[in-house]
Amino acid sequence: MPALSFPEARHVVLSQVRAQHPAPPTEEVELCAAAGRVLAQDVAADRDSPAVARSVRDGYAVRAADLPGELRVIGEVRAGERFAGEVGPGEAVEIMTGAPIPGGADAVIMVEHTRREGDRVHYGNSAEPSQFINPQGCEAAAGEVVLPTGKRLDYTDIAMLAAFGRTRVAAFRKPVAAIVATGDEIVEVGRRPEDFQIRNSNAHSLAAQVARAGGVPRVLPVARDTVDHTRAAIAQGIEADLLLLSGGVSAGKYDVVEEVLAGLGAEFFFDRVLIQPGQPLVFGRAAGKFFFGLPGNPSSTMVTFEIFARAALELLGGQQEVTLHMPFARLTREFRHRPGLTRFLPARLSADGAELTPVDWHGSADIPALTRANAFLVTDPERAEYPAGEWIRVLPK
Ligand code: AMP
Ligand code: MG
Repeated sequence: MPALSFPEARHVVLSQVRAQHPAPPTEEVELCAAAGRVLAQDVAADRDSPAVARSVRDGYAVRAADLPGELRVIGEVRAGERFAGEVGPGEAVEIMTGAPIPGGADAVIMVEHTRREGDRVHYGNSAEPSQFINPQGCEAAAGEVVLPTGKRLDYTDIAMLAAFGRTRVAAFRKPVAAIVATGDEIVEVGRRPEDFQIRNSNAHSLAAQVARAGGVPRVLPVARDTVDHTRAAIAQGIEADLLLLSGGVSAGKYDVVEEVLAGLGAEFFFDRVLIQPGQPLVFGRAAGKFFFGLPGNPSSTMVTFEIFARAALELLGGQQEVTLHMPFARLTREFRHRPGLTRFLPARLSADGAELTPVDWHGSADIPALTRANAFLVTDPERAEYPAGEWIRVLPK
């Protein structure tokens, strides 16, 4: 199978999962628990927004044609009430931000630009009709769909649900991701490892990443590097919505994951991607379920989840739009790499998000370096050298 570039592999993941995933079941969730969930219904505005024309400034509601000039103040209207009368020619009503525009008025003038004496207010400029007024329904009309099915609800969406009176919404059930770490050298975290053994950190970092991506992690026991043991683990894991395997996908004698998957009739979409870490990376489908065979080095597992598996999990959870945020920042020092691979290397993004400094590390197993980083710098595979001050992509952690 040919090795794919990073964008090609990402495209394959997105298009395969979009093409053939079942619609997830739905459930009702309370508004207070809805953030981060994926909407399973279109939500419509229950009234115009705003429901009446409102002032966006503190000042006076006026008739624009009267200005410049002096007006008689006939009353006041605050947010949360309605002015009973009408603004006639030569008249003004003192108005607060958010208050409904009284009948007869067609503009608002800012209090800062007026001079008040008793019940008279003076304004030296002309006014545009409709200035500082938000017309009724200008943001959304009653009945209009304001949140579509498949949207992952962020805090702005929560505000909108609240504003339109939704105390509960239908959400897609969270997809379950089974996590199977493989390796004869891997021991469970609660056990004391021999010095030639390694604790199973990948299952736990993956569980944290799955939960953050809106899924439910199901961590299964570590699979030994034998065909039989790995087959049993995969058979159990494939019952979940998504199967994540760590380790056992390189070319070593005991890397049996691909062989076992092939034996189960799996379809493979790719098994190598031109990235570092994470070159041997398997993505496919077996028994109607998608799986990823993620390389076992901790940074490989973490990075390949973030750049590929997360998108698959999001789509399986009913999310429509999936994106990978990779903004640019300026390198604080020169950086070189051997071109050919898209590399994801630990780095620190400055407090203002503008500058990026690579973190020294000892390769893909260096968890302490990964924790010191707050981001990954992302290299362009075509480009070998970046002088200090150059823009480079960042994958925030
Ligand atoms: P593999 O991809 O199976 O060749 O694993 C590569 C390396 O990743 C192993 O030598 C381990 O050092 C490390 N590794 C594999 N699985 C895990 C795991 N579950 N937790 C932590 N490190 C792992
Ligand atoms: Mg292994």
